[in-house]
Amino acid sequence: STMLEVSGLNHRYGAGEKAHVAVNDLSFTVEAGQLASIVGPSGCGKSTLLRCIAGLIKPTSGRVSLHGEAISSGVPDDLAVVFQDYSRSLFPWLSVEKNVEFPLRWRNLSRSERRTRARDSLESVGLSGVGSKFPWQLSGGMQQRVSIARALASRPALLLMDEPFASVDAQTRFELEDLTRRVQRENGSTILVVTHDIDESVYLSDRVLVLSKSPATIVADLPVGLPAE
Ligand code: ADP
Ligand code: ADP
Repeated sequence: STMLEVSGLNHRYGAGEKAHVAVNDLSFTVEAGQLASIVGPSGCGKSTLLRCIAGLIKPTSGRVSLHGEAISSGVPDDLAVVFQDYSRSLFPWLSVEKNVEFPLRWRNLSRSERRTRARDSLESVGLSGVGSKFPWQLSGGMQQRVSIARALASRPALLLMDEPFASVDAQTRFELEDLTRRVQRENGSTILVVTHDIDESVYLSDRVLVLSKSPATIVADLPVGLPAE
């Protein structure tokens, strides 16, 4: 079934002579359970596209729907985003476990259910032992794992990742890419990753959507055959 449908999406920053078209008439769908990536040169409009999908900015025109329902305003409940800059997305005054639990405060969940989910999410990213530490006590790669755990704790129908591994070293990047694929396999998650790194997109995903230079337009939509494990 179709999880995400983007149709005729346009986004323009500013108006009049200073207007800048960042996304130009984009349409595509992502099936449930797919790990798709969007790759394109820096500045081509990837983050803008992702922010439109996430409901963080309102597109100039076009439509985004998540399992058939239009995303009109605000971030939908069943969508989570992991950003590149983990150091700014975690709360330094909250422990790792409280960070992971934080978005669950707005769900109708008991305190113990929230805690169980946070612990399960931390375990699924290989961070069982560090719940009581603070983010600044962890390496960059571990902090990004915490961000991923926090996103997974809300059990999103769609997980969006914006250049998620661009700020970690190469070894950590491989580990986090493997982690992302394992999450997809084990949880059956639908994941859309935006990256400027073509190697990463091919290694990571089932499908690569290639964007042109600004404004973002799809120039190729490629299935990626992963070697059997
Ligand atoms: P990417 O993620 O591919 O690097 P972005 O979506 O960040 O691309 O940016 C696409 C284009 O839109 C760039 O030319 C950028 O300068 C411009 N842009 C991004 N954000 C804004 C903004 N808030 N106001 C004006 N222009 C912007
Ligand atoms: P080799 O040619 O000896 O396989 P590589 O550098 O191509 O060496 O790959 C080493 C390991 O890193 C392999 O397990 C490969 O799957 C993985 N790898 C290579 N490129 C990437 C990438 N861009 N992202 C993640 N893993 C990668």
